[in-house]
Amino acid sequence: MGTTFGGRFRRWRTTALCSFALIVSFASLPVRAAGPDLSLISIATGNRSGVYYFAGGTICARINAHRWQHGIRCLTQETGGSIDNLRALRTGSATFAIVQSDWHHNAVLGDERFEPVGPDRSLRSVFAIYAEALTVVAGRESGIVRFADLVGKRVNMGPPGSGGRATMEVVMDAVGWEAGDFPALSSLDASDVSDALCEGEIDAAIFTIAHPNLAVEDLLTSCGAQLIPVEGPGITGLVAERPYYFASTISGSTYPNQRDSVPVLALAASLVTTARTSPTEVYELVKAVFDDLPGFQDAHPAFGEFTAAQMVTQGLSAPLHSGALRYFKEKGLQ
Ligand code: GLU
Repeated sequence: MGTTFGGRFRRWRTTALCSFALIVSFASLPVRAAGPDLSLISIATGNRSGVYYFAGGTICARINAHRWQHGIRCLTQETGGSIDNLRALRTGSATFAIVQSDWHHNAVLGDERFEPVGPDRSLRSVFAIYAEALTVVAGRESGIVRFADLVGKRVNMGPPGSGGRATMEVVMDAVGWEAGDFPALSSLDASDVSDALCEGEIDAAIFTIAHPNLAVEDLLTSCGAQLIPVEGPGITGLVAERPYYFASTISGSTYPNQRDSVPVLALAASLVTTARTSPTEVYELVKAVFDDLPGFQDAHPAFGEFTAAQMVTQGLSAPLHSGALRYFKEKGLQ
């Protein structure tokens, strides 16, 4: 799966900030506003400053635009990220979720974090949305210029329910680092990282996120933080061993103050659900996105990275839901 991160940033930034305000206000309408004749679906996303929240809001807005025709109303849920989202699907507290392909894979098989609860064979894929990158942002005075320099530093790993934190733990294991090698591994969410990094309370912040995004842009522009290349034998080994990881780059000039391309460890982020979700709801959601795919892809530069053919095949860690399959077959995409 080849893709690079970046491009088309500035126009998106203005659109994103306006759309974000709309999504936040729409998503926080009371549930009873769905009305007696509408069925309610939810998409578990991530922190408000991440791209999952924006993607979930964009998908919901497209469904809600036709809610009086299909009778489905969509709400986004703010969460800590992929791990929280996969748990929400298992307990039935979300209908859909946006998740990293590595943790979707592990949840299906009951591996790693999901070993105590066992495999969840009811998980289904809907479509891949975009690629995400394990991203390291280092503070100006941190002395970190290479990935290996993270050892001995105060590193923010992200909240406990985030896929980013869980993926960084896998990476640390692969490169032979232990928690004791770090004076602090904090769990701030993206909205609190900027102050902590700029005020020197932490040396680096880890995200697994699509680019460009406002959280990273804020860090790079407000206090001279830098993107650090994620590379080395441990990273190459992970790409060789695990089918859901691939090597990619954040293109030069994706952000102001970032001239060079930066190598990263990448994976796909997908919209997922369970076999318990009604095929009609899944079909209508897919239709709301794919009937006007260029319109959806225009909402954020990352949404345009995958072609339609890639969205229905790449990085999907579970079988396609029957409602999605029906739509893709009708359109000749399967
Ligand atoms: N990939 C991150 C996670 O699963 C979320 C990124 C985002 O919110 O855009 O925790």
